[in-house]
Amino acid sequence: MQVLSVASEAFPLIKTGGLGDVVGALPGALAGEGVTIRTLLPGYPAVTDKLQGGETVHSFPDLFGGTARVLAGQAGGLDLFVLDAPHLFARQGNPYVAPGGNDWPDNPLRFAALARVGASLAQGLLPAWQPSVVHVHDWQAALVPAYLNYDALPVRVGSVITVHNLAFQGQFPLSLLPSLGLPPWSFTIEGVEYYGAIGFLKAGLRFADAITTVSPTYAIEIRTAEGGMGLDGLIRQRGGMVHGILNGLDEAVWDPMRDTLLAGRFSAKSLAGRAANRAAVQARMGLAPDLAAPLFAVISRLTWQKGADLLPAIIPPLLANGGQLAVLGAGDGGIEASIRGAAATYSGRVGAVIGYDEALAHQIQGGADALLVPSRFEPCGLTQLSALRYGTVPVVARTGGLADTVIDASPMALAAGVATGVQFAPVSPEVMEAAIHRTIAIFRDPPAWRRLQANGMATDVSWRDPARRYAALFRSVAA
Ligand code: ADP
Repeated sequence: MQVLSVASEAFPLIKTGGLGDVVGALPGALAGEGVTIRTLLPGYPAVTDKLQGGETVHSFPDLFGGTARVLAGQAGGLDLFVLDAPHLFARQGNPYVAPGGNDWPDNPLRFAALARVGASLAQGLLPAWQPSVVHVHDWQAALVPAYLNYDALPVRVGSVITVHNLAFQGQFPLSLLPSLGLPPWSFTIEGVEYYGAIGFLKAGLRFADAITTVSPTYAIEIRTAEGGMGLDGLIRQRGGMVHGILNGLDEAVWDPMRDTLLAGRFSAKSLAGRAANRAAVQARMGLAPDLAAPLFAVISRLTWQKGADLLPAIIPPLLANGGQLAVLGAGDGGIEASIRGAAATYSGRVGAVIGYDEALAHQIQGGADALLVPSRFEPCGLTQLSALRYGTVPVVARTGGLADTVIDASPMALAAGVATGVQFAPVSPEVMEAAIHRTIAIFRDPPAWRRLQANGMATDVSWRDPARRYAALFRSVAA
């Protein structure tokens, strides 16, 4: 079965978070299920510079204000269609944000163009290539099912939208409607209208044949007023078409025995190699080379969603209990400044690298003792999966995919020998502090800690089961 995947980022070419990881991993994961995925990406320099083959398969004399081409080729191990539209995508750096920190003002046009071309490819733009399913990711690709609906052509393709994070909805003013190529009658509550604006994600949720989100618990949370962020009514209405399928981890990228980004490699049988990673992380982050201190780490966007604003509050009790904290992340300026401030105040016990650093992320996972993930909501979360695989014990908020992937070290789970980490709720400094003390108490009982690590490393966080679920869903919606 042929599937067209439409997305705004894909690892290893361009990634700002879990969306990129998942889009990059799905083609490999589904190959074993008899599903062949081609991914349509915007032609950012990070993509076009690496594109091999790069044959022009279609040209548009005018696509939303400029000439454009669809190129077919390979890059980063992916079979790609690339939307080469220099007036929209020939921009360096973050795919969504202009230098200076604001979103590109023409983002609605840029990603409507991506979706417009995705819908056309899905409906047979290329005579020799007809997919059975188009799989679109997040608001940036979410107009695909809307275009399919309003094109009103005989339907050749089934559509699936995956919501990686309901907080990013792509809402834009009504005045853009004509320039997006949507008809006036699309602007109703049964169409693309969303609280007086055009809702890209809303339109995708309305018109896709099936909706998935990235964990079973998040699939339940987004049906509620609290977790639905204004879209819960529509999501409840789509009822049985909403599925929660956990993300997997790309085991080729995250393999502690073969990971070339690590300072020391290791396996579940022998964790000795972790010491070199710990030393590398402590050196890089200005932490004392303390072998006995429980080393807590955070690898995250530094935002309210991720609970990063609460980190300063838990530093004093963590340090008082003998711990160290290593923070790798970037995001809100205010949170970045407070983390930098803490690293200066508690020099040698708190380390911070503000920025994005793939190699350091791997070394932290390979060398820290515990990974702290205090998200206020978390559709799936990937860092706790890498942590499990790398023998770092995840200490997570009990929400969304975090709740689904970590088994809390309750007295019962410890006695049964099945725990893989620590969960806490709600997300508050007091509750986090208690969770940290609970974690350190287990850390100071080496056989119990070793058991947590071993259970985590034995957990199946691969794409095997999720891939089977996606393949079954694709077959059920295939036209
Ligand atoms: P989200 O997509 O909401 O940011 P996820 O946990 O789903 O969160 O995915 C985050 C991904 O980005 C993980 O692969 C994580 O390792 C990576 N990551 C996040 N921040 C950084 C950083 N500062 N440096 C390197 N990798 C990071």
